[in-house]
Amino acid sequence: MPIYEYRCPHCGKEFEKLVPMHTDPREVECPHCGKKGVEKKMSLFGMGGTGLGGLSVSQGSSCGTGGST
Ligand SMILES: [Zn+2]
Repeated sequence: MPIYEYRCPHCGKEFEKLVPMHTDPREVECPHCGKKGVEKKMSLFGMGGTGLGGLSVSQGSSCGTGGST
C-alpha cells in the first residue's frame, strides 16, 4: 500500500497515512483532530505518472581524470 501525504483543513496539520490505492481523501480521518475530509497532498510513490525511479540520480561518474584505455 502506498503512503499518502494529507493535510487536514480543520486543524491545519499534515500527516502521512498508509491507505489503499483508491481511498477517497474525504474518507480519511485526521489523526490529530479526528475529523474526516482531508486534502491529499501527494504520493511518495509517484501516482499517475512517474512510477519507477522517482528519485533523480545526478550523473556523477567520478572516474578519475577521464583516462580511457
Ligand atoms: Zn485535523
